[in-house]
Amino acid sequence: MSLYRENILDHYKNPRNFGKIPGSSKSSHAENPSCGDSISMDVVIDKGKFEDIKFTGEGCSISIATASILTEELKGKPISTVIDYNLEKLEELLGIEIVPARKKCAKLPLNILKKIVLKELKNQSFPDLQMI
Ligand code: ZN
Repeated sequence: MSLYRENILDHYKNPRNFGKIPGSSKSSHAENPSCGDSISMDVVIDKGKFEDIKFTGEGCSISIATASILTEELKGKPISTVIDYNLEKLEELLGIEIVPARKKCAKLPLNILKKIVLKELKNQSFPDLQMI
C-alpha cells in the first residue's frame, strides 16, 4: 500500500475536525446519490478567513478523506482560497489521481465550501444587489 493511500485511509478512519460547530456558524449540506455520500459542513468566518471548519456525515473513503483534508488545509486561510480550488488541487492534496468514478466524491466537500463562500462573498461585495 502506498503512503498516499495510507494517508487517505487514516483521514477516513480518523477524520479531522469531525463534528458540529455550535452557535453562529454558516452551514451547508450536499449529497452524492450515486455513491451514497452525505456531508454537512459548518464554517466560522472571521475577517475574511476560515476561523473554524468542521464536518459531519458519511460516505466513501474519498469523500470523507477529502472533507477531512480540506478542513485542515483551509483553517486560517482567506475564504476566497476555495474559489480557485479544482479537481487538480484536490488530487494534489490527496496525493492520488482521482479515478472518474470517484470525482464526484472528491468534489462534494469542496462544492459545499464553495457554496458557503460564494454566498458570503456576495453578501459582502454587493450588499445592494441581493434583491433582483
Ligand atoms: Zn463516494
